[in-house]
Amino acid sequence: MTLDIARIRKDFPILEQTVYNKPLIYFDSAASSQKPLQVLKKEEQLHLEYYGNIHRGAHFLADKATIAYEAVRDQLKKFVNAANREEIIFTKGTTESINLVAFSFGEAFIEAGDELIVSEMEHHANIVPWQMMAQRKGAKIRVLPFDNDGRLMIEKLDELITEKTKLIAVAHVANTLGTINPVDKIIEKAHAKGVKVLVDGAQAVKHLPVDVQALDTDFYVFSAHKMYGPNGVGVLYGKKELLDQMPPYQGGGEMISEVSFEKTTFNDLPYKFEAGTPHITGVVAFGEAISYLENLGVAEVARYEHELLQYATQKLLSIQGMTIYGTQPEKSGVITFNIEGIHSFDISTMLDKMGIAVRSGRLCADTVMQHYGVSGTIRISFAVYNTFDEIDQFIVALKKLVMMLS
Ligand code: PLP
Repeated sequence: MTLDIARIRKDFPILEQTVYNKPLIYFDSAASSQKPLQVLKKEEQLHLEYYGNIHRGAHFLADKATIAYEAVRDQLKKFVNAANREEIIFTKGTTESINLVAFSFGEAFIEAGDELIVSEMEHHANIVPWQMMAQRKGAKIRVLPFDNDGRLMIEKLDELITEKTKLIAVAHVANTLGTINPVDKIIEKAHAKGVKVLVDGAQAVKHLPVDVQALDTDFYVFSAHKMYGPNGVGVLYGKKELLDQMPPYQGGGEMISEVSFEKTTFNDLPYKFEAGTPHITGVVAFGEAISYLENLGVAEVARYEHELLQYATQKLLSIQGMTIYGTQPEKSGVITFNIEGIHSFDISTMLDKMGIAVRSGRLCADTVMQHYGVSGTIRISFAVYNTFDEIDQFIVALKKLVMMLS
């Protein structure tokens, strides 16, 4: 099936506008994707027709909202091929999912002197929670480096993993370099030595079909807002046998079984990790985003985005002074670059005035910036609604401003 991009774009009316009197070109979907009408309408429909607080209500609206919310858990179980629906925990996003694991896994399994391995190409969300946990527990973080082409040096794992290593945290797709990491091989190496793995799938799930059982990953985390869903919703997939042993992350309603001042007992999975009223409408609309993506076909979308990536890469390389960070053949969705002699902030500001939305700066990835010795970069990132024509317009704009600024 070939994707009908013109028709798909009609689902995203936000893209039809002009900014600064220029047609909007949105190249910042890695930060957050736009939402199709189907998702927006679903959220509105719930508010208009059957909004009520979930699980605890003994009335029609609450029951209907609960059924819709729990149906999305089943949908996600299928989407990532989890073995049990209890292994799907709803969170606020990737960041909260990682913080949850860092805290609860830390409490259950980490002792002073233990070690964690974190890759050098991680988003801050997959570094800082581990640092905080390591500090609290007296553990140590070791770094899995990448080479200048953006390839994770997984051969180094053989020396990095010691008998003290408890967990490896790694991105499936790096938000700066776009590298699709061989997480299956990393997991295999880790498990051979009894080490657990958390895969940050924030940049991966909308680009690649993900099967958590085939990967055999211990934890897999992602955010709805990067995959055409609402913001404020995320997922933690975790193996049941691990989640069962981990203490709750937050206390409150819903996560308990019984409460007294003498003793509180906790609820079963997944509710043990879902304290308080969640983002009910967001979760239900997330289900619609997944259906939307599945109707298009995840593999089909990935193939189209890869064509955009290759096309844009070739065009960018024709610009003098161009450096692209991350040149792996296994690459997805993003191109991060600099142009010699021009500050990244100047480029993004001028592109913005030309109607082109890109990301610039440190991209929440200081360790990647440090690797290349740069203070900032520009990043363009694609989604299914982007076109080759937009790339052409972007290249014309970029060449124009290079002439003006250099
Ligand atoms: N991990 C990666 C690889 C990301 O790209 C991002 C966001 O850009 C995050 C984690 C954090 O996601 P969120 O802000 O949705 O929690």
